[in-house]
Amino acid sequence: MLSVEQISEAGVVGAGGAGFPTHVKLSGKADTVLLNAAECEPLLHKDKEVLRAYVDEVIEGIHLAMHLVGASRGVIGIKEKYQDVIDLLRSRLPSPMEVSLLRDAYPAGDEFILVYDVLHRVIPPGGIPLSVGAVVMNVETALNVARAAQGPVTEKHLSVAGAVAEPVTLRVPVGVTLAECVAAAGGATIPDPNYVVGGVMMGYLEENPQALVDKTTGGVIVLPSDHVVVRRRRRDWKQTVKIGRSACDQCSFCTELCPRWLLGHPIEPHRAMRSLEFNLVGEANVAGTQFCCECNLCSLYSCPEDLDPKNVCTQNKRRRMVEKQRWEDPPFSPQRPDLHMANRKAPMPRLMTKLGLHRFLNVGPLRGELLPAAKVGIKLKQHVGAACTPLVKVGDRVAKGQALGRPPVGNGKPALGAPVHASIDGVVAAMDNGIIWIEKS
Ligand code: SF4
Ligand code: SF4
Repeated sequence: MLSVEQISEAGVVGAGGAGFPTHVKLSGKADTVLLNAAECEPLLHKDKEVLRAYVDEVIEGIHLAMHLVGASRGVIGIKEKYQDVIDLLRSRLPSPMEVSLLRDAYPAGDEFILVYDVLHRVIPPGGIPLSVGAVVMNVETALNVARAAQGPVTEKHLSVAGAVAEPVTLRVPVGVTLAECVAAAGGATIPDPNYVVGGVMMGYLEENPQALVDKTTGGVIVLPSDHVVVRRRRRDWKQTVKIGRSACDQCSFCTELCPRWLLGHPIEPHRAMRSLEFNLVGEANVAGTQFCCECNLCSLYSCPEDLDPKNVCTQNKRRRMVEKQRWEDPPFSPQRPDLHMANRKAPMPRLMTKLGLHRFLNVGPLRGELLPAAKVGIKLKQHVGAACTPLVKVGDRVAKGQALGRPPVGNGKPALGAPVHASIDGVVAAMDNGIIWIEKS
């Protein structure tokens, strides 16, 4: 049976975007392993496509994870609209694994929401799924766990969507560029393409098309410059403060629909908005921002005034982290989700309408062949934790799967992180800014 050391050696990290080292997650003890197949970011199709194409390996990954954490139960949380994948899963799942059906709402894939929706357990503020006996794994992470005994993570699946000729889910070597992925999707169909990496709700605007795909990249959405998501990402903080200060009428919709508030956590974005009046002074209003999951629902969906409470929350959250201010053991209301969660979710069709996304093809079929690459850039940090220390130098010949870097060792122990590996055969052409460039020879 696979060990956590093999998973560590294979460089498996959370492939859904978080990048938390999987061997650390699977070193805990839990009664349930929950596969996160919710994939609630609009236009992304990668998890469902991977699940369909590699169903037996994903199930094997869940099985291995259950063994490692001592779980007696494995549950796959998937949206009820994916009936063909659900039928496939049900025809393959061994006992004691089961499927749990989710509504087509946002955010369904947030770990806290998923654990509540599937297991009816409320993770306390500041907690993790393990706090309530669960380990949550992304679909592609489970696939990489299943493959860890055969070799390290050198490939990534990602959706390319939005204003592209052929929306698609690609299989690419880690380290190709976003521009290569968009070209593989037939190229942009607009004259001013902007690349939103990760997803329109929680992703970030990448200004450099030559930016690299790493082990956490789940999608690239191409959007025009005048799209609300792009404009919002480009709005500077001074503008956010100026508009928020003058226009927020404290209607509190942002709080009433906030998924973490609905879970009973002490976060109230409408109160955080009050802090703008005092140039971020007023700690009682912002202490709860520590528990913001940055889902962006308040800014891109809930607020009728088009304000940006999410950004106000995250600015306060980051400032408080820098100042080492933490709200330990805050009170919370575990009954609140039972009262409100079911009828306050943001339905995906309505969210798509609000964001003007219906104009794009909402499909992403998997193209199973590996995208060819003549050159890749392997980041030394593709995970939560410390950047890896390089193991190679310029001019070295490397083989696909060879370790290029490992987490640094301090006090006899490796730092939190995961090794990174060559994704093609070639020669180390350059090393700069934490990237090892490999060219096919
Ligand atoms: S929803 Fe908008 S207007 Fe209402 S309280 Fe929140 S930020 Fe202010
Ligand atoms: S981004 Fe807004 S809606 Fe999401 S958790 Fe933070 S405050 Fe709540």
